[in-house]
Amino acid sequence: MRVAIISDVHANLDALRAVLDDIDRRAVDACVCLGDNVGYGAEPRACLDLIFESCKSVLAGNHDLAAAGQIADSRFATIARDAVAYSRRMLTREQRSKLALLPKEETFADCLLVHASPTNPADYPYIRQADAARDAFDSRAFKLALYGHTHLPLVFHDDGERVTLSMKPRVELIRADRYLCNVGSVGQPRDQDPRACYAIHDSSAHSIEFHRVEYDVEAASSRIRAAGLPEQLGTRLLVGV
Ligand code: ZN
Repeated sequence: MRVAIISDVHANLDALRAVLDDIDRRAVDACVCLGDNVGYGAEPRACLDLIFESCKSVLAGNHDLAAAGQIADSRFATIARDAVAYSRRMLTREQRSKLALLPKEETFADCLLVHASPTNPADYPYIRQADAARDAFDSRAFKLALYGHTHLPLVFHDDGERVTLSMKPRVELIRADRYLCNVGSVGQPRDQDPRACYAIHDSSAHSIEFHRVEYDVEAASSRIRAAGLPEQLGTRLLVGV
């Protein structure tokens, strides 16, 4: 089974459309989304509709729950807080209710899906280093967990002795081993590559492939400016930080 995994769309409609078009061309069986559907970008309403239309499973990220009034705005930095308030204003009441009810984790095709971490999913910790990945592997049983939140695509591999990090575009999975894979961000990549990012897990080929998709970054950035959102949210997209 081939499953496309998207995450951290962050209301970037131009990036989301380009990614969904790319996924359409790659013959996948399903698409799932790991959350942070809104926040930062200018088009939360259209993005949310498109995500619900296209994805078999959609998780709640911290920005989604903040926009739905489930997490206090005070947990966010000023710029993120402004964007959460904007998303909350732009979403319909029905959309906010839907966001509030989204699951924080799910199992799909034998993979554990979470937004930030398999460990305390509701606390939204950041897994960037091998020591944090080690804690996540030790916290519960899973073979392959897929996550987002840091906007940095990578794979941690636990061979039973140590945890190693891969940043290759394709990773062959060893059946006996365990993996923690960050699928990167569709709408706000932070690895200095402005192209939208997503991953495909192929359970027959035992592989994870990352895909980078060109999209009209200038248009997304202009929409942010026109919406009156903080300027920095538009300019960071141009450089992928
Ligand atoms: Zn995010």
